[in-house]
Amino acid sequence: MSYQNFSREQMQAMDAAHHLHPFTDHADLRAAGSRIITRADGPYVYDALGNEILDAMAGLWCVNAGYGRKELVDAATAQLEELPYYNSFFRCTTPTPALLADRLARIAPDHINQVFFGSSGSEANDTALRLVRHYWALEGRPEKNIVISRDWAYHGSTIAATSLGGMAAMHEQLYGAVPNIRHVMCPYAFELAEPGESDRDFGLRAAKAVEDAIVEAGPDNVAAFIGEPIQGAGGVKIPPASYWPEIQRICDRYDVLLMLDEVITGYGRTGEWFAAQSMDIAPDTITTAKGLTSGYQPLSALLVGDRIAKTLVDKGGEFYHGYTYSGHPVACAVALANLEIIEREGLIDRVREDTGPYLGEALTAGIGDHPLVGEVRTFGLLAGIEIVKDRDTRARFEPEGHAASVVRDHAIEGGLMMRAVMDTMILSPPLIWTRETIDTAVDRIRAALDKAA
Ligand code: PLP
Repeated sequence: MSYQNFSREQMQAMDAAHHLHPFTDHADLRAAGSRIITRADGPYVYDALGNEILDAMAGLWCVNAGYGRKELVDAATAQLEELPYYNSFFRCTTPTPALLADRLARIAPDHINQVFFGSSGSEANDTALRLVRHYWALEGRPEKNIVISRDWAYHGSTIAATSLGGMAAMHEQLYGAVPNIRHVMCPYAFELAEPGESDRDFGLRAAKAVEDAIVEAGPDNVAAFIGEPIQGAGGVKIPPASYWPEIQRICDRYDVLLMLDEVITGYGRTGEWFAAQSMDIAPDTITTAKGLTSGYQPLSALLVGDRIAKTLVDKGGEFYHGYTYSGHPVACAVALANLEIIEREGLIDRVREDTGPYLGEALTAGIGDHPLVGEVRTFGLLAGIEIVKDRDTRARFEPEGHAASVVRDHAIEGGLMMRAVMDTMILSPPLIWTRETIDTAVDRIRAALDKAA
């Protein structure tokens, strides 16, 4: 059955009647009608009205290699024809997860050599939470099970991932969090730095909040600290350079495992395969998904460092954990082809040396002085733009989040897909963007800001 047999209105009616959307106010959606995206190519998506929209979000931070990659379609098709599914339970595997695990071990930091597959970032974080607690239990220290996380963190939507996350609205609807998870401030200088406080000092103060939480809980009770290298869904909150090295020092000092959530930052977005490499830190686990397949298939990979893996293998016996689709052969085939594209086309070097720095320059030059813009911040191909009512006082418009959503709507109308998180506009484009694509995006953002002003 092809969707082309249905009109846009018919599809909207079916969607409104039967489809419960993620993160959506359904009354609002029904009033507005869904935007139906029907196809995509390169950096563009197209809706059912035929509008061409430059996708500054790479779908949901995931289409790193861009749309329309025939090679990925071919990889999926070949695998579907040969072996559409078999599991990796009970002493079995299939070729592609074995090859992919080997490939990931080679691109990950040196001390990371094992991979546990799932289908989503949320699942991978559930796995990570169980694994770090299991590690300490196997080490004979089951009381070491508190995990420290941060306000505004997003680690996914399962109950465990939401418990790890630090989104107040999500916690209100949690109805029973996973216990022993504590939250501390995040390094969000734009709102939390004191007047006159240097970036460096603010980064150290934000890291100290983690140390204080460890000391308060008692280091013997703390299993791990988890954080996104750059908070994504929380508003592209980029920590000062002093933050992560200090977090590493604190984790080492108190023998607390370091868990990085690189579901957004992994696979090139920061100008290295992983942000752990950009920030020169050595996490015990790295959660990845999204860019691993450029979104062409659902797949996550929890990268597990040697310390945990050794205990799991040597002392673990059976780890009672896994998913039907762990190591799905089609998803892994697509991931292998996707990593090959990223490497062959030098997309990561391009982000680090060219498009990443250029995105920062172009946004600053193009909109940095706009009356609605309080701050532009970028790292690799991630950007956050703070929308303010008053640039000097950083006062916000009311109600919270409304102004940014108006800018976002104007941007989409003007042919640029962006997101708004509260009062922050966000960009996370495909790694295939060029300087020209960035210039087009900046022009469209400026036009959207002008309309909203
Ligand atoms: N972790 C981070 C940092 C994310 O940004 C996301 C999703 O946006 C997740 C985890 C959850 O991934 P998924 O939606 O695939 O479950």
